[in-house]
Parts: sequence; structure tokens; C-alpha cells
Amino acid sequence: MSKQLPGIHHVTAIAGDPQRNIDFYTDVLGLRLVKQTINYDDPGTYHFYYGDTVGSPGTLLTFFPWPGAQRGRVGVGQASATAFSVPQASLGYWIERLVRLGVPFTGPSTRFGEQTLAFTDTDAMPLEIIAHKGEQTGGGWDGGDIPSEHAIRGIHSVTLSVADSAPTIALLTGALGFRQIGAENGRQRFEAGNGSGAGAQVDILHQPGGPRGAMGTGVVHHIAWRTPDDAAQKEWQESLTAAGVGVTEVMDRQYFHSIYFREPGGVLYEIATDQPGFLVDETAETLGSTLRLPQWLEPERRRIEEALPPVHVPQTVGLEA
Ligand code: ZN
Repeated sequence: MSKQLPGIHHVTAIAGDPQRNIDFYTDVLGLRLVKQTINYDDPGTYHFYYGDTVGSPGTLLTFFPWPGAQRGRVGVGQASATAFSVPQASLGYWIERLVRLGVPFTGPSTRFGEQTLAFTDTDAMPLEIIAHKGEQTGGGWDGGDIPSEHAIRGIHSVTLSVADSAPTIALLTGALGFRQIGAENGRQRFEAGNGSGAGAQVDILHQPGGPRGAMGTGVVHHIAWRTPDDAAQKEWQESLTAAGVGVTEVMDRQYFHSIYFREPGGVLYEIATDQPGFLVDETAETLGSTLRLPQWLEPERRRIEEALPPVHVPQTVGLEA
């Protein structure tokens, strides 16, 4: 097969209070808020993107904050954990940081030879920090208070919990081109592309009879895999359709173009293009500082802004002249 998915483009989840979400991901985890926009399918809701300095694919965790929404339930049929990658030598820094900031965690425990810390965000969304043994891609974001050598580099992997792993694995290793690289403690690990990209790994937990997940705050909404451009995405759309997978039309998400389909275990997948990226409507210096709307919603900016709960966003101390 000529085309490959190099790994994760972004993970999108549901949050509750928007300000609490910003505070946790910027102040505690030290990610950059790279884009403040709205949910194009629901313009009364923010869409926040967190990532590295320029919002590189593979570093992005995004949220739809729904203040007052019902708490979700993490379980079978969902991505049950999202793991960030930090340098191997930074594990001690992160243990100290979580302790100092009062974030309860478990670990370190060893998974596939790497040290892992497990904790949750302010909406009880399961997160992990994995001290990655291999070479790190990307530089993270050093505009916050975390020294650049310890910054989160991007998404390491996601864990999917499914009632029957066989069909989920068949799609991954068949039409999507992943390969299995390990199995331990009931966890099977698969790798995308050549394994070198950020978020190139996905773990599958086979959990027949486990409690089913329910959508709501603290729950992952979908996992987006990367593809370079529109032409490659069209090939995916055609090959998945030929494989009997129901894929959507291409949707314009302003910073990337997307197609969506549900994998057999119940998890919603997306394939998102690397192009055009997050600098299409802001400079690297000002990313995330103001609410961005796509052209087709600009005429409604005033009404949209009035309906959104006000938030304050962190100043970019690292880049200000
Ligand atoms: Zn998405």
C-alpha cells in the first residue's frame, strides 16, 4: 500500500467549564492554546485547540466545552485514555509538578518498557504522561512556565476500549495499514506509518462485558488520524468506501479538511489533512489570543461572541517583544 497514516492528527473531547479547561491545559500541562474558535456544527460552543508552538499535527488535543453538560462515562466503545509524550529524563520533573500543583496521579508504572503516570483533568478525563524512550519529535511549547527540555512533545498514544477487539483490529491492520508491535497485560499495541511520527501508537483493550461508555464531559469524542493533503484524503475516502466503511463527505474545518467514519468497536475516527494548518488566519506570535471565525461566520461575529461565556487566555510570555 502506497499511502500511510503517519499517526494521530488530533484528539477531540468534551469539557465542561471553558475557563477551567483553559487553565488546566495551559497552566498545569503547559500546552499552548493555539486556536480559540467555535464548533462549526454548533456555533454557540467554543472549540479550543491545544498543542505545540504552531499547532503541529500530532500535538493537538481539542475540546468542545459545554458548561453545565452532563458528566460522561468513560468505558467500552471509546478512547479510554489519551497519553502525552515527554522526554525520558523528564519523568521526575512531571511527578514533582503534579504533586506541587495538587493533581492526584498513579504510577509511575511500566508499559511496554516506558514509565507512565495516570491522572485526570478537571472533567475527570483520563490522561497519561509517558516518558518516551525513543527520539522525540517536535519541540513542544516553551512559552509557559515549563522549561523547554521538560515540555510535553505531543500525543504519545491513545487507548481504545472495545467489547470485541477483533473487528477493531481488523480495520486498523487492514484498510488503515497499522501493524501490531506488542502485547502485554491484555493490551495490544499498534503502530501507524513508520512509527516515528507523534501519536503513531494506538493501544487496544479487549473488554467484553465492560461498562459501556456514555458521551458527556470528560469523554473523548473522536480520534483524528493524519494525512498530508486533499489528494491523499480522497484516496482514503475511496479505499475505505471500497472496504465497506461508511465515510462522510469532506468537511472544511478551516485549519484542516476532514472525513469521518465509525470503527466497528464504536469509536469515531476522522482523517484530517495537515494542510492548511493553524497559521492560516493568525501569526505564530498571536496564535490562540483571540476568537477566530471562518469567513462564512464572520458576519455573525457579534451575535456569536455575545452568546459565548467570556474567557481569559494566557499571555504568550515567551514570544512577546
Ligand atoms: Zn476532529
